[in-house]
Amino acid sequence: MTDRGAGLSRRELVRGAAFAAGLTFAWGPVARAAGPAAPGPPADEVLRRLREGNERFVKGATVSPRRTPEDFRPLAGGQRPMAVIVGCSDSRVPPEILFDQGVGDLFVVRVAGNVIGGAGAFVKGSIEYGIVELGVSLVMVLGHSECGAIKAAIKHLDDRDALPGSIGPLVNSIRPAVLKAKSRPGDQLDNTIRVNVEMGVGQLRNLPPIVAPAVQRGAVKVVGAVYDLSTGSVNPIA
Ligand SMILES: [Zn+2]
Repeated sequence: MTDRGAGLSRRELVRGAAFAAGLTFAWGPVARAAGPAAPGPPADEVLRRLREGNERFVKGATVSPRRTPEDFRPLAGGQRPMAVIVGCSDSRVPPEILFDQGVGDLFVVRVAGNVIGGAGAFVKGSIEYGIVELGVSLVMVLGHSECGAIKAAIKHLDDRDALPGSIGPLVNSIRPAVLKAKSRPGDQLDNTIRVNVEMGVGQLRNLPPIVAPAVQRGAVKVVGAVYDLSTGSVNPIA
């Protein structure tokens, strides 16, 4: 086991090992090669790299790191991303581009509205995998301005059956953020986007049995940010 796992209880270790083993079986040689989580860069260092990358993106000074065959070929043997980014599926918010990062740098979970609450086992399990198996020290919930999922949640707040297929349940999962943001002064859409991120961060920080203990012992930070489509800037909010 590694330093990162030194503070884990035996029960957590067993759970983590079983979890990792299942994913190793399901995901094949990449997960096997990655092995158990070893300490990566600490969260503050990861945040600095992301901030500097976004500053390069905003200025049009991207360096597009780690995108050559010499970079991606070695990664066939295993991945060591530095952060989990939980972002929206929106085509305008690809994390690797916004943060000017390369192949293998970010473990990205994208779902419309960057929902955490009500998102179920697949979103939460992906985040937990990033912590347990890949050893990331930072989880960022990344919302964005003009989010269509948030707009739909506001529009259909009182008409929850209006949307077809599984779009309804997805949008309904944003309903608590819409209701909570209603009492805040200012723009309703911007407020709801922000509250949705804040609630996602809060839910992750308290999510047993993997994320919450990792946060409590200081191995992982969970933060929130909102990307501004018009400026290209990622602004921390939680
Ligand atoms: Zn969106």
